[in-house]
Amino acid sequence: MGKLLRQGDHVVGIDIGGTKIMAAVLNHRFEIMGRCRKKTRSKKEGQSTEERIFDVVAGALDEAGNPEIKGIGVGSPGPLDPATGVIIDTPNLNWKDFPLGEALGRRFGVPVAVDNDVNVGTYGEWCFGDVSDCADVLGVFPGTGIGGGVIVGGKLLHGFSGAAGEVGHMTIEVDGPYCGCGKRGCLEALASRIAIAKEVAALAARGDAPYIAENFGTDIANIRSGALAKAIEAGDAMVEDVVRRAAYYVGIAVANLINVLSPEAVVLGGGLVEAMESLFIEEATRAITDHAMPFLRKNVRLVPAKLGDDAVVLGAARMIAEKLAEQ
Ligand SMILES: [Zn+2]
Repeated sequence: MGKLLRQGDHVVGIDIGGTKIMAAVLNHRFEIMGRCRKKTRSKKEGQSTEERIFDVVAGALDEAGNPEIKGIGVGSPGPLDPATGVIIDTPNLNWKDFPLGEALGRRFGVPVAVDNDVNVGTYGEWCFGDVSDCADVLGVFPGTGIGGGVIVGGKLLHGFSGAAGEVGHMTIEVDGPYCGCGKRGCLEALASRIAIAKEVAALAARGDAPYIAENFGTDIANIRSGALAKAIEAGDAMVEDVVRRAAYYVGIAVANLINVLSPEAVVLGGGLVEAMESLFIEEATRAITDHAMPFLRKNVRLVPAKLGDDAVVLGAARMIAEKLAEQ
């Protein structure tokens, strides 16, 4: 792995999220030498998202002692075109057909690689986590939404459109609840943190989730993954039911993907899994046993993600290092 970059080389990895932007400067061994994190929404009047990103990169470079950098890798919300680095449409960030790769390249004078944030996170977990020996890997990340990434034969799968891997929008229940994408019955509408919180808030309002009612109230925004974990630990049995069913739904999606793609390993990450790892692994395993074909699920490793918040910056750094090595 140390062969991709030469001693003394540095690259930058950027993670652009809906709430925060993080950049890290990494050395040739992919060790983080400096990092900077800011809220995505600026308090400065009139500052654009891209100027905000430039600031975060400059902050990380400062912390690392301002080394010369060879390239920049970026994980961004999509849809986007990984070949050109153009972000097609992200209403949250005010970008429409925005050439992010080009803008960063012009500002810092280096090559840039851009890909979908969840793809890049999956790539990071694959390169630096527990499953680097597997060539076919699936990553599923249930949190506020549900994202996924697919690695086939050691390469990220982009598909014809460039946007493959939208695991959260697999239809799981025909005529199920509405999803943010406008469809009904997507995995995300059934098993994301928002979907769970909606149901738990209703339980709390009618007295069926006493720990949640007392400590977090009935506002969906406050019923986060950590709150759900605490309520289950405190004995809110109906909250546990709701979360277990959501985890089982995630497992059904994974089982479907095992039947189609035959991965060697499945990485489960995201806020919900980080907060309730054994519950999610247990229910997903049960769903995989129920719904994946025996020959295809045999010996598939189901592992929790290892890198937490650093998955995207690490994956992004590795992605640009590989692009540089090809040139
Ligand atoms: Zn959807």
